[in-house]
Amino acid sequence: MNLILLGPPGAGKGTQAKRLEEAHGLKQLSTGDMLRAAVAAGTEIGKQAKAFMDAGKLVPDAVVIGAVSERIAQPDCAKGVIFDGFPRTVAQAEALDAMLAGRGQSLDAVIQLKVDDSILVERVKKRAEETLAQGGTVRPDDTPETLKTRLEVYHRDTAPLIAYYERTGKLKGVDGMASMDEVSRQIEAVLEPFLKKRGSILKWLTGR
Ligand code: ADP
Repeated sequence: MNLILLGPPGAGKGTQAKRLEEAHGLKQLSTGDMLRAAVAAGTEIGKQAKAFMDAGKLVPDAVVIGAVSERIAQPDCAKGVIFDGFPRTVAQAEALDAMLAGRGQSLDAVIQLKVDDSILVERVKKRAEETLAQGGTVRPDDTPETLKTRLEVYHRDTAPLIAYYERTGKLKGVDGMASMDEVSRQIEAVLEPFLKKRGSILKWLTGR
């Protein structure tokens, strides 16, 4: 099963992706985490990405698409992936369609986490405060100024994906302002038909 979690910064994509990973054995693929790891390791991709990330801007499509296509070819992605933070542009969405088709796969669902901007600003502020209180290091792009840029970039470059996936009939909206557990319940409800299908294929295979 291949899923996309679509939504603005702070919408809860990472939290929900981790829950789905545990519940259903899917693999979370967070391009933000991949890029931060590349920056920390000082790799070529990290060097290309750092300035864009620090400024709250998108890393160029070619860099991100290259990294994702390498990542999904790894064996741990064979059963399917939860894409978190990817695609973020129409060009990335088109590249993902082609990548999956090349592997004989396709997207099952795109889950849109709907959250108002005012709530996102508060959430990211709280996330930074809690990280500091726990003695952790705040992400360099979790400042109020950079968040403003990230939200602008989201509305300009990423929100058009809502219409893109609406046209495919795969877009499912959930209320990202509800509690984390309620959001998880709504996502499970959306995924139920796909999980059932997977279950029955598994039953068929093991019953032979
Ligand atoms: P958030 O969803 O909270 O903004 P992420 O961890 O997903 O955080 O992304 C952090 C930064 O990493 C982005 O602001 C951007 O610079 C870069 N990034 C992550 N994913 C992509 C992507 N698919 N395309 C381009 N840049 C990306």
